Amino acid sequence: MGMRYRQYLHGARIYGCSQCKTHLATIHSMISRAFNGQHGRAYLFEVVVNVIEGEPADRQMTTGNHTVRDIYCVKCGTTLGWKYDRAYEPSQKYKEGKFILERNLLVDVQ
Ligand SMILES: [Zn+2]
Repeated sequence: MGMRYRQYLHGARIYGCSQCKTHLATIHSMISRAFNGQHGRAYLFEVVVNVIEGEPADRQMTTGNHTVRDIYCVKCGTTLGWKYDRAYEPSQKYKEGKFILERNLLVDVQ
């Protein structure tokens, strides 16, 4: 535990944690808005910063079985979404190493 260095993003549009406004991702690394999270609509990002990754777990989704890690805000600990470690369906492989952030848990910060 203890203080962790937090990275600050620069760009036209930055998404942050709704609880503490820690920077998480930019619109430039957004891959898709057409995802569903645990709490509704979610976004897929190429790169997300300032999160802690949990232990890997297999999760069955509408698009098949995936190994995912929940991701938590490095500052306030809110669960923000998950990272795809592995997708078992060939058509879903593009998601490996990418991140899901729940739209309801994001705010625009600038
Ligand atoms: Zn936070």
